[in-house]
Formats: sequence, C-alpha cells, structure tokens
Amino acid sequence: MDIITSVSEMQQRCMSERLSGTRISFVPTMGYLHQGHLSLLEAGRKRGDLLVLSIFVNPTQFGQGEDFEVYPRDLAQDSLLAEQAGVDIIFAPEAKQMYPSGYATYVSVERLTETLCGASRPGHFRGVCTVVNKLFNIVQPHLALFGRKDFQQLAVIRQMVEDLNLPLEIIGLPIVREPDGLAMSSRNVNLTKEQRRQGLILSSVLRQAAATASSGERNPQALLDFARRQIEAQPEARIDYLQICDQTTLEEVAVVDQGSVMLLAVFFGQTRLIDNSYLLS
Ligand code: AMP
Repeated sequence: MDIITSVSEMQQRCMSERLSGTRISFVPTMGYLHQGHLSLLEAGRKRGDLLVLSIFVNPTQFGQGEDFEVYPRDLAQDSLLAEQAGVDIIFAPEAKQMYPSGYATYVSVERLTETLCGASRPGHFRGVCTVVNKLFNIVQPHLALFGRKDFQQLAVIRQMVEDLNLPLEIIGLPIVREPDGLAMSSRNVNLTKEQRRQGLILSSVLRQAAATASSGERNPQALLDFARRQIEAQPEARIDYLQICDQTTLEEVAVVDQGSVMLLAVFFGQTRLIDNSYLLS
C-alpha cells in the first residue's frame, strides 16, 4: 500500500492507472476509520481493481466555532486498518496542498443544500462539494462510495455529479451501527460516557418511528412529536433538527410513504451526532 501526500504525484499515478485500463474505486473520508468506512472499502474492493482511500480533514467544510481542531486524527492506525482492508493507495494531502495561497474556486449545489445540515451549517456543503470535486479530479475514479449515514451529503453529491456531468458512478451504502444501535462516527470518541449512553436515544427513536409507521401511522407530525419528546427527555441532548423528508427532494412530507426518511441532528455537549432512517422498508 502506498501513502501519497502530493496532489501532482497522486494525479499522475491515477492517470496512468486509468490509461492502462485499471478500474479505480474511491472512498473519500476524513479518517479515524471505523467499521462504517471499512464497509465502503470492502464494497469498493469488490467493484474495482485499484482501491483508493483519501484521508483529509477538509477545513473548508467546517464553520467558525465547529470542531475542526478537535476532530480526531490517527493516520498510523488508519494505515493499518486500510492495509487490512486491501487499500492500494491512501491519499492524505496537507491542507496547503489542496488550498494553496490564492485559492479562489468553490462549488455550490443549490436547493438540496438549503435545509437540514445545510441550514444549520452554512457553507458546509460548499466545502464538501468543493473538496469532493477536487478529489474526483485528482483520483479520477470510475466509482466512488459514500455512506447513507450522511444522507443529505449523498443526495447533494449525486446532484453535483449529474449537473456537472462528472464521469463516474456514485454508490450509496447502508449505515453501520455499533451493536447497541449508535451509528458509527469518528466523532463518537468525543462523547463522554454519559453522553454516549444518552446518544442511544437517536437510533432508538428512529427504530420506534419506523415501527410505528409500519403499523400504519402516516402522519409525520405524530411521529416527530413522539421522537422529539423522547430525545428532549435526555438531559444533555439539544436538537438541531428533526424532520421527515422525501428521500429525493429532501423536502418535508405531508404524508409518510415509501420514500420518507426521518433525519436528525442532535448535540450532546459540543458533539453533534446525525442519524437517519427510512420509515417504511
Ligand atoms: P467521514 O470520514 O465521516 O467524512 O465519512 C466518510 C464516508 O464514510 C462518508 O461517505 C460517510 O457517509 C461514511 N460513513 C461514516 N460513518 C458511517 C457509518 N456509520 N455507516 C456507513 N457509512 C459511514
């Protein structure tokens, strides 16, 4: 496995791989790998010849006062896990390689980015779309794999790829959870023991909402009120958003149907957790 930090070296390597007929699978991450990331790598390994993992904590997608500084990082451990997962190349650039002085170009997707995480983190998706676009231009993958944990991000990236005619396939994969239900996230290490315990309410309300919807409840407000009460009963929880949206438009639904997803973002102390679930499967 190679670890490449130079943008130009990475781009040249991928270009020559592509020209020689290699099918490139790409998994972009911010590192501090867990089973969620590993599930993407496993799928990427099966679908391509060359498996590329990027590890880059992208400063442009963090707002002022967000957790860029305390975002966990461990390249040594990530390298071990990546090697075991069959990664061929880790691309781990420095921020100044990606955004040299004088950098001035950004990619903005409209509409889908105006709600949910986009509403509470202004500029977040502009940073995400910019870095993902740059990474696609550097790695030149045939396919890229993303988790549905970041449901809105996946929708926004699909829109960007379609709108900009980017020549690659986007694959979305299910959320990987801890045995007790907590959605895996690099940020989970920043939770205190008590916050982690209270955080279990998120997967629990999503499960209960799906069960209630499956047994016939189609009124989103009833499901949301129930979920809100339970989350607010946790002393350290502070709801950022809690909504039931259509999977494609991300607009709030009036009636729950097959395409309805409950999406939530909740702070426990300084740590913001996101999670989501389809309500009818
Ligand atoms: P991150 O390193 O958090 O930026 O995530 C990198 C990729 O891993 C994104 O496509 C995420 O959606 C995906 N991912 C993160 N956590 C999970 C999870 N628990 N299950 C599945 N995919 C995940």
